[in-house]
Amino acid sequence: MSFDKLGLSAEILRAINAQGYNNPTPIQKQAIPMILQGRDVMGGAQTGTGKTAGFTLPLLQKLSENTSDKKRRPIRALILTPTRELAAQVGDSVRTYGRHLPLRSAVIFGGVKINPQIEKLRRGVDILVATPGRLLDHANQRTLDLSKVEILVLDEADRMLDMGFIPDIRRIIALLPKGKERQNLMFSATFSNEIKKLSMGMLNNPEHIEVAARNATADKIEQLVHPVNKSHKREVLSQLIGSNNWRQVLVFTRTKHGANRLSEQLQKDGLSSAAIHGNKTQGARTRALAEFKRGDVRVLVATDIAARGLDINQLPHVVNYDLPNVPEDYVHRIGRTARAGNAGEAISLVSGEEYGLLGDIERLLKRKIPRVTVEGYEPDQKVKPIPLPEKGRNHGRPKKAKPNASQKRRRPKSKKHAVIRKAA
Ligand code: AMP
Repeated sequence: MSFDKLGLSAEILRAINAQGYNNPTPIQKQAIPMILQGRDVMGGAQTGTGKTAGFTLPLLQKLSENTSDKKRRPIRALILTPTRELAAQVGDSVRTYGRHLPLRSAVIFGGVKINPQIEKLRRGVDILVATPGRLLDHANQRTLDLSKVEILVLDEADRMLDMGFIPDIRRIIALLPKGKERQNLMFSATFSNEIKKLSMGMLNNPEHIEVAARNATADKIEQLVHPVNKSHKREVLSQLIGSNNWRQVLVFTRTKHGANRLSEQLQKDGLSSAAIHGNKTQGARTRALAEFKRGDVRVLVATDIAARGLDINQLPHVVNYDLPNVPEDYVHRIGRTARAGNAGEAISLVSGEEYGLLGDIERLLKRKIPRVTVEGYEPDQKVKPIPLPEKGRNHGRPKKAKPNASQKRRRPKSKKHAVIRKAA
């Protein structure tokens, strides 16, 4: 199926063409017609599936079909994202796909001056992309009016939940037109009960779209675990990058401090590197990301929140330097590679104290991730490494392993991690 069967205007098709997209991705095929029909949608999709265009294209189509008050230009579409980086990226997509349409958009997030945003809003904006905190600041200062919003998009709802934004989201929803006057689209990579509860309060009789099995990782991602002593992690990482001649790699650490320290150490090992996390100013984060995208920096070290939703084209390698406390974050992290049809590799450096976390991740994935020990760095504490065939571990697909009876019993709730998550 090609894009021109989906009911999009010539102007939008021209913009899609210029991006070099030939065919809609599965989520686009499903979401675009439903959104054009005016249905509310609950979309289960990870980043990398093309979901941004999946909601942006029909949103642009709908807004451009109905004329609005050109003089006042009320905000007609509101897209909420959990992070500033994601807001900026979604804003770019809106501008790119809507470049031939007479619609205006703006992106607002915290950490930057509010006055230029106020000025932009005052001049009139059809589509607003925003993070919840700064949006509420504007609402409180009465520098924006949300009473004419026709379409609400909640992107990466699961991450909103993790970041504690749900009360803010509810406050924002209270400022929008009520009931059927508003079309609601919600996207999430994972579906906890809280997400389902939120969706019930926000969506009207939604269509459910799911493109990959729930909590499944893209099957093009080659996943490997390197069991290694904690004290050897940095050396192993430098060696992996250097000896395999990796062009670029995104590395995840659990803490901001850990991200800084690792980035400095890698620099000392002669690898150009930058860190991106919540303590950096917005300017520093944007700069680091731009340097990485340009290829000036080889290693980007990031915490989960900072990396969420980053769209870095064709990133071939992701490394979990520390495993995440929350198993779902593993799915988000490795979703940074193998994007839009490219292959990718996700390697986790796992030390003895992280074996419990690894077990939780494997239970979520419902499969065992192959273990490969790095020569010269065999861990003191063994996790039963599974040796892979000699010739090219890249051909060894991760085997699906059924959870055994004790794992099944433990799956419903991991109290241990509920506690860790609270403490984080
Ligand atoms: P997303 O899941 O929205 O973050 O998109 C992931 C990547 O896929 C982005 O780099 C998009 O530019 C790209 N993309 C989106 N739709 C298509 C398509 N139909 N064909 C090829 N690439 C696409």
